[in-house]
Amino acid sequence: MNIFIEISYLISSVFFIFGIKLLASPKTARRGNFFAAIGMLIAIVVTLFDKHILTYEWIIIGILIGSIVGSLMAFKVPMTGMPQMVGLLNGFGGGASMLVALSEYYKILNKLTDKIEFTTYDTVTISLSILIGSVTFTGSLIAFGKLQGIVTGKVVKYPGQHPLNLLLLLSVVAIAIFFTMNPQDEVLILSIVGISLLLGVLLVLPIGGADMPVAISLLNSYSGLAGAATGFVLNNYELIIAGALVGASGIILTNIMCKGMNRSLMNVVLGGWESAGSSGPAVTTVKGNVKSVEAEELAMLFDAAENIIIVPGYGMAVAQAQHAVRDLFNILESKGKNVRFAIHPVAGRMPGHMNVLLAEAQVPYDKLYAMEDINDDFPNTDIAFVIGANDVVNPAARHDKNSPIYGMPILNVDFAKTVVVNKRSLNVGYAGIENELFFYPNTLMYFGDAKEAVNKLVHELKNL
Ligand code: NDP
Repeated sequence: MNIFIEISYLISSVFFIFGIKLLASPKTARRGNFFAAIGMLIAIVVTLFDKHILTYEWIIIGILIGSIVGSLMAFKVPMTGMPQMVGLLNGFGGGASMLVALSEYYKILNKLTDKIEFTTYDTVTISLSILIGSVTFTGSLIAFGKLQGIVTGKVVKYPGQHPLNLLLLLSVVAIAIFFTMNPQDEVLILSIVGISLLLGVLLVLPIGGADMPVAISLLNSYSGLAGAATGFVLNNYELIIAGALVGASGIILTNIMCKGMNRSLMNVVLGGWESAGSSGPAVTTVKGNVKSVEAEELAMLFDAAENIIIVPGYGMAVAQAQHAVRDLFNILESKGKNVRFAIHPVAGRMPGHMNVLLAEAQVPYDKLYAMEDINDDFPNTDIAFVIGANDVVNPAARHDKNSPIYGMPILNVDFAKTVVVNKRSLNVGYAGIENELFFYPNTLMYFGDAKEAVNKLVHELKNL
């Protein structure tokens, strides 16, 4: 029986690992998701079977409520609200790990006899699981609140912030040591819960709104670690493997995002970047002439071009212009143009944001190029068409040492023969800074909502 359970867990883990591997490419991502779901199904069924969990009524009620809430959330949340949704789900994962560890503590406490007693392994793993789970729970709720506008998105700083956090962390460690020596003292374990919950709030509160998606990715990693720690509490290999996978992939993603924004993880965690946000004041005042262009004239320009690179950004997502952009791509291709998409790693508001939208609109995946694969091609490009992007094409990142985005790798659209920028105004992007690109001699501004503007351009191209 035991060997059957262990083998089933192993098969389920293989499904998880294979699922993650397939998620690495959008072509196979759906299959990857499906494989991972099968892995999870095997894990749940086997666990229920193994642990002789008899209250099936409660399990079915739980599945029904969870499925309804989950489906409603998945259908209702817009793509731009995805980071908050992921944040909330991380929080639930952390909270669940904390509750499971706590209930395991009470299970052992209630069974204590001469033969059954707490081991150091029990107390250490329970303390660790509660610490990481609780920090993830409250930290994720604050992150969700910040992105949803319920909690201030500003960097919250106060004197003694870092020493206080360190003190709280050290007191959790100290209490955990006492707890190991007096495991029957409930007050100790409940103090670990309380302080860890507070620590989660205090650690995430100082982080500014612009850094929040990075913080959410980090909390995702924590939720995996909390799961793995709970796996040690329960001696459940499956949970250890799944938790380690989430922990590792979360930290890799956090690293990719930090690199894309040219931020150090420490800087994000310690709440360094005072993000102005889209509505905040501009940091520099760029002056010069702006040349704007209308759809009819633009259509003629595109008709004469051979090499075109489209650069999508957050505005394309807001306007839900991906289908219009696909129509533009189709008509330009049918006219024999070489059309490619350049994707910045932090374009939009979540990793892979642009890829997901363009894939949804059936833009061929081999036409999407990562920044490092296409950046050198801009000088040989007739038109770089920027649709709703701003920060990721701001040349100040290359030369303005005072700019908050200085050092962030950008798409070199300004090296193209002509740059066409579509957005509604000269307003700032997420980093809250003006963009000198709009004033460059080779730049033409094509003002308007991305969906309407691109549709108009397609219409004019068809009329040529
Ligand atoms: P930006 O946020 O820099 O700019 C988006 C632009 O879109 C705005 O300037 C806005 O200008 C325009 N816009 C808004 N609505 C519309 C619309 N309906 N039609 C046309 N344009 C519109 O976006 P980028 O994608 O260039 O950069 C992403 C930013 O987000 C970076 O600063 C990045 O660091 C940050 N970020 C990204 C993360 C990620 O994982 N992707 C995570 C964390 C942060 P206007 O109002 O004039 O229309």
